[in-house]
Amino acid sequence: MKLLPALIVAAISGLSLSAVAEEKILNLYSARHYQTDEALYANFTQQTGIKINRIEGKEDELLERIKNEGANSPADVFLTVDAARLAKAHELGLFAPVASKTLESRIPAHLRTEDWFSFSTRARVIVYNKAAIKAEEIQNYDDLANPRLKGKLCTRSGSHPYNLSLMASIIAHQGEAKAEEIARGMVANFARAPKGGDTDQIKAVSAGECGVTISNTYYVARLLRSTKPEDVKTMEKVGIVWPNQGTTGTHINVSGGGVLKTAPHKDAAVKFLEYLASDQAQRYFADGNNEWPVVEGMKVANPALDSLGKFKADKLPVKNLAMYQAKAQIIFDRAGFK
Ligand code: FE
Repeated sequence: MKLLPALIVAAISGLSLSAVAEEKILNLYSARHYQTDEALYANFTQQTGIKINRIEGKEDELLERIKNEGANSPADVFLTVDAARLAKAHELGLFAPVASKTLESRIPAHLRTEDWFSFSTRARVIVYNKAAIKAEEIQNYDDLANPRLKGKLCTRSGSHPYNLSLMASIIAHQGEAKAEEIARGMVANFARAPKGGDTDQIKAVSAGECGVTISNTYYVARLLRSTKPEDVKTMEKVGIVWPNQGTTGTHINVSGGGVLKTAPHKDAAVKFLEYLASDQAQRYFADGNNEWPVVEGMKVANPALDSLGKFKADKLPVKNLAMYQAKAQIIFDRAGFK
């Protein structure tokens, strides 16, 4: 019954049905599910009158789903984390190019492409056991390959996008040969075969099972903000290093999204991306997962992130991270980084 007034308006004004359908609904496929997202979406609906239908799922599952739905997919916008996954959606031809002055002016050039955009950033830092390792020993990602760390390195899988994107940045900056040398050195330093997520690594480092690991900053911030006694204890024993401060800067990854080529509500989809780049949305979007906004000059008050101090971020374009994904996987495979 809801459609009826729209149909009448369409008949009277001669508008096509699709034009009427446009602007009222947005089908959002999101791999993000944080508490603050509720406010983020409610605010958009309030400002635009566009209702958001949310389909949430795991990153890789959602991408598969969009791919399988093909031309019939109801998806308008796909939001996910990691440049590698966004690049995959691009390579599959799922995203439509978006020309938006708002997105261009709000999002720094290195954090966007012609069809997908970053809305928050996270850094990959080195976390170490203060009793086992000195911060001076692990100032750069390269140091993780140093033989003096033999038997001390823990990490999640080499096929995980976070590690692939880090390796991609190393290839981009230092070349393939050096990247492979680093990968081999890291494997030689493993305390155990890769398993678990970043949080598991931090806990293993704190427990002394390993001496050092790499983690995305929001996992560190989440543990730092936790009031659970076991988390407080975990964080007392570890130190954090911003890697590569004297060289290329700490590796940055992103969460972001794009408009799908088959989007039934393209105008609404672009409006939504532009909304995500607004000051208010940036705050929700980034803070919901203890990340940083992409819009420059935004003030954020996140005590956990602030406690990690200021750092120099790698300015490598997200496009380049995407470009070297396949190479990164080949190098990890050759090095036995499973
Ligand atoms: Fe994560």
